[in-house]
Amino acid sequence: MIDGFIKTSLDVAARKPGRGFTIGHEGIIKVTEVGSSVKNFKVGDICIASCISACGVCHYCQKDYQSHCARSEGTVSCILGVQTDGMQAEYCRIPYADHSLYRCPEGVPLDTCLLLSDILPTSYELGVRGRVQEGDIVAIIGMGPIGLAALLSLKSFKPSQIIAIDMNESRLQLAKSLGATTVINSKSEPVKKIIEKLTTKDEIRPGVDLAVECVGLPVTFETCQDIIAPYGKVAVIGVHGRPVNLKLDKLWSKNINISTGLVSTNSINELKNKVVSGELDPSPLITHHFKLSNIEEAYAVFRRSSETGAIKVAITPDGVDI
Ligand SMILES: [Zn+2]
Repeated sequence: MIDGFIKTSLDVAARKPGRGFTIGHEGIIKVTEVGSSVKNFKVGDICIASCISACGVCHYCQKDYQSHCARSEGTVSCILGVQTDGMQAEYCRIPYADHSLYRCPEGVPLDTCLLLSDILPTSYELGVRGRVQEGDIVAIIGMGPIGLAALLSLKSFKPSQIIAIDMNESRLQLAKSLGATTVINSKSEPVKKIIEKLTTKDEIRPGVDLAVECVGLPVTFETCQDIIAPYGKVAVIGVHGRPVNLKLDKLWSKNINISTGLVSTNSINELKNKVVSGELDPSPLITHHFKLSNIEEAYAVFRRSSETGAIKVAITPDGVDI
């Protein structure tokens, strides 16, 4: 969760004393009622709700920059669970439904569809799309849900190496089982040295072609800068709450491209097709299921993820089976 988003959620909650505030920006919904301006959906439709609510007609939406929809209530389009009540509930109001919902594909389990709401588009749009070519060497720093989702969507681009870096051994082992060619535990192993050894070849300078930063700490951004090869790309997905040290004096002559941003979720249909065709299987990322009445236990399991192995936890309302 983004610090600024938490602050916004708390501000909204403070304006509703005694009522509380419902969080949750990833979800699958069954339409029970439609507003008068909704044209594309009807009662009974089962849909992926994007974590971004976008009007579809403003300057930014027309350019496919939905994350900055001008009609959102804040500066960005994360409305559900941030500016209005979110989806960890039995019922939820979806703003701008026509441009913020996507019908679930037939034959794909709903808990798999759930991953199309946020983590798959986030990791794909900000870490993978347009950044990787066949044969590239890729490093992913941080093997939480976003890093693992990036790994899964990278594979079909056929990089020659996928190097997974984390401090949590169970997440590293999961990364290996999902296709990482090398795993490095940054708590006990020298990341830069190992990558130099893995990537140095005749007439090829050491480093990775793409470094995907999925943590959001100054130290992990620094690692990316230390391991990037000439003409490499550093893709920052992690949400940074503090300034970082930018080694421009070392990077400028290496022709490095650094990108960052907030997801627009304009890749949901593309990713949905990849899931339907079997090119992308994100199902291993859902590790736990709970009913809404047990949500406190779900949070406790997620909080102890290094012991429980929790990656993504699916919550369903009581009485609903998926
Ligand atoms: Zn808009």
